[in-house]
Amino acid sequence: MLPLISAKPQHLSPPLSFHFPLFPSSPTSSLSFHPRLKNTLRLRIRSIDAAQPYDYESHLRTQHFKSQSLKIAILGFGNFGQFLAKTFSRQGHTLLAYSRTKYTDTAKSLGVTFYNNPDDLFESHPEVVILCTSILSTEKVLQTLPFQRLKRSTLFVDVLSVKEFAKTILLKYLPVEFDILCTHPMFGPESGKNSWDGLPFVYDKVRIGNEEDRISRVERFLDVFAKEGCRMVEMTCAEHDRHAAGSQFVTHTMGRVLERFGLESSPINTKGYDTLLDLVEVTAGDSFELYYGLFMYNKNAMEQLERLDMAFEAIKKELFGNLHHVYRKQLFGNADEGAEDRPKVQKLLHNGAPPSADAVKPETS
Ligand code: NAP
Repeated sequence: MLPLISAKPQHLSPPLSFHFPLFPSSPTSSLSFHPRLKNTLRLRIRSIDAAQPYDYESHLRTQHFKSQSLKIAILGFGNFGQFLAKTFSRQGHTLLAYSRTKYTDTAKSLGVTFYNNPDDLFESHPEVVILCTSILSTEKVLQTLPFQRLKRSTLFVDVLSVKEFAKTILLKYLPVEFDILCTHPMFGPESGKNSWDGLPFVYDKVRIGNEEDRISRVERFLDVFAKEGCRMVEMTCAEHDRHAAGSQFVTHTMGRVLERFGLESSPINTKGYDTLLDLVEVTAGDSFELYYGLFMYNKNAMEQLERLDMAFEAIKKELFGNLHHVYRKQLFGNADEGAEDRPKVQKLLHNGAPPSADAVKPETS
């Protein structure tokens, strides 16, 4: 028990009496007062309603915190939905979630209220609904959502790794009153597990109402990522897909190829090899469905896959070309000698007769 010292001023009536620990962290034995002083030591409360400066500041801080916090619903509480929830929760936002799988316990451990159906979730009137469903399932999910239960001003955000497709289906299925923000946090549970500092966050304000509160709500949402140090990049969905096919899709493809190849760590790993092992680790955590979505729903992906294929063939050709050269050298001494020998070969071909002037002309290419 902490030592308590009665602070009851004599003139106050019983309901207004208080007990304060004088030195809450000190053990009782360390307090020794002169017996006469003990009787006279009373904490006098002179004013009970004057706001102390620190109270005022913390009050302002709480108010600011509340005004910045959002009520966010996460649809699709799988790998990426849970990953985002951790940061949203740490920043003090109110979180709700719905998924076809029941994640009640996981949600609870992350401070998220889990709903078993989207109707109940939408009736809680989240300010922001964030779609974290797989690329392949999102259109189907959108077709079944009870939008009529939401407020007319709700902000819809998606995090799909392909953006033109996401924009098209959101514009197609969402009521016109809803705001739409297309985003792509270009990191995941592996690459962003320690920090989001410096990691790219791409967004496109596809449809945001003119009202001040709608504009400020989008900014507050974007601020979640800016506060974590993300590199905020505003660009159109089409631009994103062009860049992402050349970077993200190629990264995932190489990671999967190397995984199939079966890279193994060795006692003499070089830095380059460690980078490859890291690449396999980062991409292996993502579902095949995600990777397939990157291919299916980004029209630039096929071209990149073909370029990769051609590049691989070109490298093989170059290697085998050099090998051919070495082989010829072994057969003929060296390649140039081989060229000098050519008229002789042609001579042989002409049954010992001297070749015509045309036949011995040196090759020009
Ligand atoms: P994912 O395999 O792309 O998606 C899994 C999520 O989709 C789960 O919540 C799952 O719900 C839901 N889902 C799948 N099929 C469904 C269906 N038929 N009906 C309803 N829900 C369905 O893996 P993910 O990594 O969690 O990615 C989620 C989204 O985030 C994707 O759009 C992805 O492009 C995007 N993203 C991912 C990363 C990343 O690094 N992982 C990074 C940026 C953006 P249940 O779990 O309830 O089955």
